[in-house]
Amino acid sequence: MPNYKTCSKCGAALRDDDIAIYRKLVNRGAEEFLCIDCLSLRFGCTREKIERLIAYYRESGECTLFR
Ligand SMILES: [Zn+2]
Repeated sequence: MPNYKTCSKCGAALRDDDIAIYRKLVNRGAEEFLCIDCLSLRFGCTREKIERLIAYYRESGECTLFR
């Protein structure tokens, strides 16, 4: 069942950015998502790195997921 409200792993509330970066990095057609914390664990990187990626995609204006 699609879940756009909460992280599928820890249940944290999702922000639009969390959904957009998950779609960008994991699966464009996803219907359930991870929060930034769980996503950074999955990729083995820091939360800051994910947040920098979000800022990058938003500022670049190239990605339709971040408009
Ligand atoms: Zn989570």
